[in-house]
Amino acid sequence: MSIKIEHLSYVYGEGTAFEKKALDDISLELPDGQFIGIIGHTGSGKSTLIQHLNGLIKATSGQIYYNGQSIYQDNYNMKELRSKVGLVFQYPEHQLFEIDVFTDVCFGPKNLGLSQEETEERAREALEQVGLGEEFYRQSPFELSGGQKRRVAIAGILAMKPEVLILDEPTAGLDPKGRDEILDQIAMLHKERKITVILVSHSMEDVAKYVQRIIVMNRGKAMYDGAPREVFKHYRELEEIGLAAPQVTYVVNSLKEKGWDIKTDATTVEEA
Ligand code: ADP
Repeated sequence: MSIKIEHLSYVYGEGTAFEKKALDDISLELPDGQFIGIIGHTGSGKSTLIQHLNGLIKATSGQIYYNGQSIYQDNYNMKELRSKVGLVFQYPEHQLFEIDVFTDVCFGPKNLGLSQEETEERAREALEQVGLGEEFYRQSPFELSGGQKRRVAIAGILAMKPEVLILDEPTAGLDPKGRDEILDQIAMLHKERKITVILVSHSMEDVAKYVQRIIVMNRGKAMYDGAPREVFKHYRELEEIGLAAPQVTYVVNSLKEKGWDIKTDATTVEEA
């Protein structure tokens, strides 16, 4: 699996008074198996970008290749793309609607046309991977805690066996404990399933701890793209584009703990 994005631009409401350029000439390569964080303040284009990756939004201009094939070519199998590139939306628990947890997780694979037996096998496997045992199967999703609901929603996507798992702000609205649990679980999934994971967040704290590559979005552009240590060298610029100061301080402090020599009056930081 690989995704290649070439000169991608997207304009909402093109030709209307509400025209808004949300993505501006983005080119990125997302090779197989990486754990990638996309960060940026609200409105920087993160959600718009990821919705392009499974074809929910079609580019105004530019190209996206999945395994070398343009997803915009005639007769491209969008349904298959959507099962390969699993997207967990913000507040995914709002999309839980089945009578119980197990039926909910079965919904996706069943829709793919799999047999009942395989559907159920996948649901069991997916629920196990998000740490929900059989005692949860017959519970109503609405009786669960916020973190548990979110796990059910993630399991629903995992049951489709995606090659790429994209999570849009998976920790939004959770308490610190729920947040750490979800992020640890996601990190474990990346390790065990060896799939590409894209974690979208406005919080550097969330991504700094887990990912191997960070893409910083700002005003519809990919402003920085690299290993966390490379990206965090620009911490002053990050602060300037609204990635909140306390978070920068947190990251700087955690790098100091790791032995980095950071002079807080400097404009760049170097590893000790
Ligand atoms: P993020 O996910 O980083 O918060 P979005 O991709 O949601 O950013 O938004 C990027 C820009 O596009 C913002 O200026 C936002 O207001 C605008 N936008 C997002 N969705 C819509 C929409 N449905 N119609 C018009 N403008 C939109």
